Order: sequence, then structure tokens, then C-alpha cells
Amino acid sequence: MAIPKKMTAAVLYGFEDVRVVERDVPLPGPEEALIKIESCAICGGDIKIISRGMPKQPPFGEFIIGHEYAGIVAAIGETVTEFKIGDRVTVEVHKGCGRCKNCLAGKYTACLNFGDTSKGHRANGFTTNGGFAEYAVNHVNTLSRIPDSISFDEATIITNAGTPLYGIDRAGGYIAGDSVVVIGPGAIGLMAVQCSRALGAKQVILTGTRKERLELGRKLGATDTVNVKEENAVARVKELTGGYGADLMLVAAGGEKTLQQALEMCCRGGNITLLAHFDDPVTVDIGLAVRHGINIYTVRGVIPMLTLGIPGDPITAILLGALMLQGLVPGPLLFQNSPDFVYSLFWAFFFANILNLILTFSTIKIWVRILKVPKRILLPIILALCVVGSFALRGNFFDTWVMLFFGVLSYFMKKYGFPVVPMLLAIILGPNLEEHLRMSLVISQGDPMVFITKPISLILFFLQWFHLWDRLSVRSSRPD
Ligand SMILES: [Zn+2]
Ligand SMILES: [Zn+2]
Repeated sequence: MAIPKKMTAAVLYGFEDVRVVERDVPLPGPEEALIKIESCAICGGDIKIISRGMPKQPPFGEFIIGHEYAGIVAAIGETVTEFKIGDRVTVEVHKGCGRCKNCLAGKYTACLNFGDTSKGHRANGFTTNGGFAEYAVNHVNTLSRIPDSISFDEATIITNAGTPLYGIDRAGGYIAGDSVVVIGPGAIGLMAVQCSRALGAKQVILTGTRKERLELGRKLGATDTVNVKEENAVARVKELTGGYGADLMLVAAGGEKTLQQALEMCCRGGNITLLAHFDDPVTVDIGLAVRHGINIYTVRGVIPMLTLGIPGDPITAILLGALMLQGLVPGPLLFQNSPDFVYSLFWAFFFANILNLILTFSTIKIWVRILKVPKRILLPIILALCVVGSFALRGNFFDTWVMLFFGVLSYFMKKYGFPVVPMLLAIILGPNLEEHLRMSLVISQGDPMVFITKPISLILFFLQWFHLWDRLSVRSSRPD
């Protein structure tokens, strides 16, 4: 199979700004395969990425979106023996890091190194480039061979069947002879109906509001459908299940009432699995789950992880721990359940800042006096604080050496009349500048002329040169 050097790809350049542009065809590394993409589905997740983004996505101007695709293996990297060129394959999104606690336990969709490519995690179409392109590179762990009887278009949504299948698995897996209720006849819900039937469920009740969707559900295997607009869905499910409620609830609609409905439709000792993303907080009678011994499971999701009050760093973790000790549950519900606390927290922040201002102004004279301390006493103290400070920030000795190096450098700079402040600014602003320079070059496809051909950069460019020229001429005309 001849592989071209260039391909077209749909690249995200900003929110609501997808452009079809030319890109290099990627090369497969060890354990990877190059896929010639035949079909790529558009997922609700893609719309979210295009309109408001997802955590840890690649920078604008680089990010090729799309995560539900199928195609043909066009090239394989070193050590790949599982697939050969010409195999028809479909992909799944997650390639776990393979080294974190969750990956080692097989729960790679909940990888603790999510988004960290240096640790080996990839989520094509989310944190790494995806399938709205002619070619994409995938780790072999994310590939599944498909038979000729399944078309590429059909194969793109196999990964979605994984969501309800995994959801059923989470809730114990064995559903033969059971009654299952699927709430929400969307793509995932309809897939859940088919999976439940295929796994031997005796009864699959599909609930929803859209008539055509419910009819489609019936064609796909639902034994009963309930239109929640027309009848009392809870009562109907109870009736259909001999008064007991269903054994398994698959919630494929993240609405305001769906979880409460699920709790009421579920039989004692039954299971609920949440397949849907809930964008807003919901209120439910969780006591019902406790009283009836109902287990609630989730399949992983990117958005819920962030909104459920899961700490991202040690300081947040300590803060969350402190809140929990006070009986306050962190997360979006905090605002709803403890508004008094949230208000007092904000007022406390406000007054703390005012207090800070008053303290600073009233004590500034005392602090200035410190400068009167003889240098031989003051400087060693400052040096000690600098060493401790630079080390404490990241617990890294290298940082301390960097601090010492620049200390010595500034000493000589001062001694020979070079200003130190520009260097400090460069250190602080440098990474920012570098990132934006890289982004600009990516957007201009590597053409440095962009810095003088675009009006804004041209003006900035001239301002800098004017300033430099002005300085230089002042210096040369200054009498020594
Ligand atoms: Zn998707
Ligand atoms: Zn992992």
C-alpha cells in the first residue's frame, strides 16, 4: 500500500472553527499501526469539543478531532505482530498508560495519567489526534479486527456499543433472564437495548419521549416501550415487572429526573448503571437506594470527573479534606446545599484581602527598617530563604542549582553594568512567549513571514524596532 507524505485533515483552530487543511501523514511508532481511515462518525462529544473544548486537548491549530473511526491498516510499527497491512479495523478511544494502579487493574478507561502522553496515555480525538483525517496512528491495544460483513460506517459505532456493554459488566454482567429498563432512546440507549437482548435479558423496557425513537427501539429488540409523556412511566414499569421493578436500570439520558425515575423503577437489591453524562446537578431521594439496597454504578466520563469535586493537586485535596471534616460535601451541590457556607466563604475571602491591604500599608515602615540590618547578617538569611524557597516549590534540587546559577549570573551582570530586570522578565514570560510562538508557527504552517505579513504582528514588530533604534541612538549620542 503506497502511503503519501501529505493528507487532508479536519483541524480545530478555535471554538467553532474547524478547517480542512493539509497535514503530514503521521508515522507509526513501536506498538502502533497507521490506519487509512475509511469512515469516521460524528459523536455528541465532537460537538462539545468544537463548541467548548475538553480537558487536556491538544492546542488549537494542531488538534485533529474525531474518535469513532474505522479503516484499513496501512503500515505497522516495530514489534507489531497482532495486525498486518490490509486488516480491516475499528478503534476505541482509550489507550491507558499501562503503568498506573487503574491500568494495572484493567480499568484503563479511568487511567490516572489521563492526557499525559509522556506516560503513554492516549485518547485519540480527545487528548491526541483523531480520525477526521485520511490517516491516523493507533496503539494496537485500541484496534479490533472487523469481519467483511460489517461495513466501515457501521464499524465506527462499535466503540459506542462498548459503553452499555461495560455498563452491564459493571453491574455484575450476568443479565440472562432479567428484566432491564433502558431510559433514553438515543444512540447509546438503542445500543443498550440490543446489547441487553443479545445477552439474554427476558424483558427490555425502553422509556423515552420521542415516538419514532421508541418505535425504532421496538424494531431493535425492546419488548416494551413506555412514552413518559403519555403515561406514568414508573407505574407502567412496575406493572410490566409484576410489581417488583426491574433488575437492571441502564440510564442513557442525563436529564433532571432520570436518576430519580431509575431509583423508583428499580427492584429491591437491583442495580442502576449511569451511561449518560449529566451536565447539571440533579436532586434524588438517595435514601430510596439505601432502603432498597440498590447499587449505582457509572461508566467513566471526562466531564463528571471534573465536576464531582475530585482534587487535582495536594493543596486542593487538603482543602477538600477540610471541607469534608466539617460535614460539607465538595462539588457543585455545595452551592445548592450549603449556600450560607459558600456566602460566608466568599465574604471571608473579601475581608481577608482588605485585612491584607491594611496590614501591608501599616507595617510597610517596619519592613523597610529591615534594610537597615547590616548586609553581612541580612544577606545570608535571604540566601537561606532563597535556597529553601526554590527547593520547597517542587521538592527538586535542580531548581536550587538553577536559582544559584542565576544568582551568580545576576551578580556579574550587575557588576558589569547589564540590567537584571529584563532577564527576570524573560525567565517569567519566556515559556509563555515560546508556546505562543510555536502556536503561531503551527497556525501559519511553519511560515515565519506571518510575523510581518499580519497587521497586528507588523505593528508590534515595528514598535519593538522603533524602541530599540531609539534606545541605541540615545546611547550613541550620549556624551561619555
Ligand atoms: Zn463518542
Ligand atoms: Zn494508566
